[in-house]
Amino acid sequence: MILSLQNGLRISGVPFVLDAVRPERFAFASHAHADHCGRHHRILCTTATAELACARFGRTETITPEIGQTIEIEGIQVTLFDAGHVLGSAQILLVIDGHRVLYTGDVKPAGGKTTPPAAAPACDTLIIEATYGRPGYVFPPVEQTVDLLVTTIKRVFVRGLTPVLLAYGLGKAQEAMALLAQQGFAFACHRLIYDAVLIYRAHGIPLAGAELFSPQKLRDKVVVMPPGVPQSREWRQISNPYTIFLTGWALDRVPRRSGADLVLPLSDHADYPQLVQYIQKTGARTVFTFHGFPELAARLRETGLCARHLSRKDAVDMAGGRDAGPGTAYDLFP
Ligand SMILES: [Zn+2]
Repeated sequence: MILSLQNGLRISGVPFVLDAVRPERFAFASHAHADHCGRHHRILCTTATAELACARFGRTETITPEIGQTIEIEGIQVTLFDAGHVLGSAQILLVIDGHRVLYTGDVKPAGGKTTPPAAAPACDTLIIEATYGRPGYVFPPVEQTVDLLVTTIKRVFVRGLTPVLLAYGLGKAQEAMALLAQQGFAFACHRLIYDAVLIYRAHGIPLAGAELFSPQKLRDKVVVMPPGVPQSREWRQISNPYTIFLTGWALDRVPRRSGADLVLPLSDHADYPQLVQYIQKTGARTVFTFHGFPELAARLRETGLCARHLSRKDAVDMAGGRDAGPGTAYDLFP
């Protein structure tokens, strides 16, 4: 049983690609972020991810089992489990010839205000995103970050400035608004963020106080924008902005280059200790890490697991059309 990297993850005998971004005939989409989903002919995913993906990439054929419901696709048992990352995010457990293979996508075991916690289903082989898979990536408690955020927003209002939260449009922005909801703040959302808010609301997450950005109605509002749109029309209509970038990378490299007035560590991923703990919970004996850092796999090998980091370079080489050679195809049960 071979795992390879080519526009997503491919497992021999499995009729769909995991998290492909370029068009495929059939793909599993762990969630609707653009680095995990694309314009496919048919997608396997949760209902919420299907709605978010169709809104972003256009209508397509969908297979949407309930969380925890096992279905069979071409002889393979498939079950989705919550991933705790963003609305609709799911891990997929595949039972192939009796072997249990779990692919997590982006995972946050604790979940959040807008996402249930991630399950840790038992498996033999685990394929896991290792975004913060390096010792030292330890996030402060969420409550601590929220307290600092609330204090900052209140001070910004007192100074006559407009607080602008920079947060990824699907997931982080909605989670930040939910965390701040008890403070009674009202929010002016960039269109991309507001489109997702409507789908969150359709799935029972109220996000009270979130409105579509309107330049005439910014007084006493917290503006919420995706990062990377500072040249947009909306941006130019904000007077005296004070920008607060919410990202797990606040722990290291982003503060120096983001240009934000303040960067706070709020993440929709697991930090390093949470990754290690989650992996142990699954009971996997073989672990492939993916994205992020190789240190996590090295640490797992020290604990006696068979672990290997799938490098981004391998993926790039494969995407360039090269055949799968040594270093790019992996036996799932070595
Ligand atoms: Zn993601």
